[in-house]
Amino acid sequence: MTEVAGWKTRGHGPLQEVDGVVCHHTAGWNDMHVVRDGRPGLDGPLSQIWLRRDGRIFIVAAGRCWHNAPSLSLGHTNSRSIGIEAENDGRTPWPKVQLDAYKRLCAELCREFGLPVSTVKGHKEVNASKPDPHSINMNNFRRDVAALLRGEPAAPADDLSWTEKLVKDLPLLRPGDDNWDVKTARGLLNARGYLPEAVYAAAGLKEWLDRTGYDDEFVKLIKGFQKLKKLDSDGLVGPLTWAALARVS
Ligand SMILES: [Zn+2]
Repeated sequence: MTEVAGWKTRGHGPLQEVDGVVCHHTAGWNDMHVVRDGRPGLDGPLSQIWLRRDGRIFIVAAGRCWHNAPSLSLGHTNSRSIGIEAENDGRTPWPKVQLDAYKRLCAELCREFGLPVSTVKGHKEVNASKPDPHSINMNNFRRDVAALLRGEPAAPADDLSWTEKLVKDLPLLRPGDDNWDVKTARGLLNARGYLPEAVYAAAGLKEWLDRTGYDDEFVKLIKGFQKLKKLDSDGLVGPLTWAALARVS
């Protein structure tokens, strides 16, 4: 893997969240600079990652990139997804070494960001006018990514990260509760980008975040969050919902 100079601060503002991965081909060769700097009519960076034909991974940007707009999927917009641009002219068969790296990279991103393999999409799946990545059957691609993920040993129970330990110790929150943990959950919901402005417009954001009550409005927000995260939408904040709020999984 190669870190392209300046990647940590490169982007069109920060990514709001990472909810998915979008796989592309570049439609050219030797074109890392295009992904980094853009092309006439579209400023760079175009994607966070460029994947060279020999399988080497180049980290181009950490912020938001212009790789998928308009998106058919809310989880794959430029603000919520990572783009991988793989070097290929759009016709030439993929070298095995590059295709292997593509799948390993996607597996690693799934692991790092706690994403289900189903959130790895081809550009052609989330944007009706796009053909890329050419000739790759994305269902087979995802099947291989899932196999790679299964092949890794699970983290032993005594090897939890500090955030995983923290989540394990958090209490179950229920409607009617009134305590500082509810305030924490409110703050996390906002930090994850799932607090619509209309909800706090009347009170003001600071006042809304200072509340410690698990009221009906908050139940509704949590249920909506759980639905989007494909969790049981029971309106309770238990271990799985805490993990999603804290991005630990
Ligand atoms: Zn594309």
